[in-house]
Amino acid sequence: MALFVHKYGGTSMGSTERIRNVAKRVAKWARAGHQMVVVPSAMSGETNRLLALAKELTPSHATTAYFRELDMLAATGEQASSALLAIALQAEGMPAVSYTGWQVPVRTDSSYTKARIESIDDKRVRADLDAGKVVIITGFQGIDEGGNITTLGRGGSDTSAVAVAAAMKANECLIYTDVDGVYTTDPRVVPQARRLKTVSFEEMLEMASLGSKVLQIRSVEFAGKYKVPLRVLSSFTPWDIDINEEAKSGTLITFEEDEQMEQAVVSGIAFNRDETKISVLGVPDKPGIAYQILGPVADANIEVDVIIQNISKDGRTDFSFTVNHNDHARTLELLREKVVPALGAQEVVGDTAISKVSIVGIGMRSHVGVAAKMFRVLSEEGINIQMISTSEIKTSVVIEDKYLELAVRALHKAFDLDQPTA
Ligand code: ASP
Ligand code: MG
Repeated sequence: MALFVHKYGGTSMGSTERIRNVAKRVAKWARAGHQMVVVPSAMSGETNRLLALAKELTPSHATTAYFRELDMLAATGEQASSALLAIALQAEGMPAVSYTGWQVPVRTDSSYTKARIESIDDKRVRADLDAGKVVIITGFQGIDEGGNITTLGRGGSDTSAVAVAAAMKANECLIYTDVDGVYTTDPRVVPQARRLKTVSFEEMLEMASLGSKVLQIRSVEFAGKYKVPLRVLSSFTPWDIDINEEAKSGTLITFEEDEQMEQAVVSGIAFNRDETKISVLGVPDKPGIAYQILGPVADANIEVDVIIQNISKDGRTDFSFTVNHNDHARTLELLREKVVPALGAQEVVGDTAISKVSIVGIGMRSHVGVAAKMFRVLSEEGINIQMISTSEIKTSVVIEDKYLELAVRALHKAFDLDQPTA
């Protein structure tokens, strides 16, 4: 007998009709002799609806007391969908019980709206499983030391599911979603994109952080840390498809690298439209400038991604880095007020019309010239590279926004990722 955790996203839980389908699918797995724990998201649109209500009452309010209430509010979405799923399972003749985060309990720290899971008690859940019930645990939420309800950040149900799978030592955690797996790149940009049968956990981590929004990044980190076998698959196949076929479908996130000997050098092309560039021009070139510029930025809790410092001319240099769109205005303001005067730099300029494109693959570890090939492909398309950053398994470039799709398509083709045409 195996134990599986199924996670269903908001779209899969989007109506009573769809919830009934989820119930039928889960019942099929349970009747095949497996112990089943299910972690649902709120019905699609529900979390947004709830948060919008709070905004109607107060447009911006950044107190801990307010964030506490946001979590109290948002957590109801998952409570409702979980109860509905339990009811649907019971209607299928399958014994089922649902629990909120605090009933399990799923313990978290106290950072409202972005709490981290600390531990999950499996006693109650195990007892129910042993009594032959399907157990449903609300995604997205937990409880802190003081007994307050917390939530894990948008998309956090993925992390709930992986954490439950880790705590229960599940055989596999299956993330059912509205796409049928992880692709070599976004199929909306490259129609020839292919679904990957497997992807290594490290590649998945890079792709998730680079803007492939299939999984919440924290769930991938969690899966890596606790070695939870994780599969992303479609919830839109008919519920009664053959269970063995279903169990092999989608994309499996793997941990064994040697299994991947045949693997391509580059597994995927990721991109991120949300980055913007900030340049501090005419900075006196002396020790400590990176710290003087980025120190205040870090203190303001602004995440910096790609960084570049140009060579100096006449004792002055230019220093550029990228930040998320949401932090762009705040970063400019901060630098203009604090850094430019203190540093004696000439000016600070921002550029929002940039994007980041990355090639990702664990095969890059054992191959040379991969980055050079990327630069050649871009130059053949006449695309200017503004910034470069590399890690062991990825190379990223910052380019002008308007060339993004061209760059992704060209790289996808050049690294042999296009689907073979029949
Ligand atoms: N319902 C939450 C959200 O919309 C969590 C989730 O769906 O994963 O962000
Ligand atoms: Mg999601």
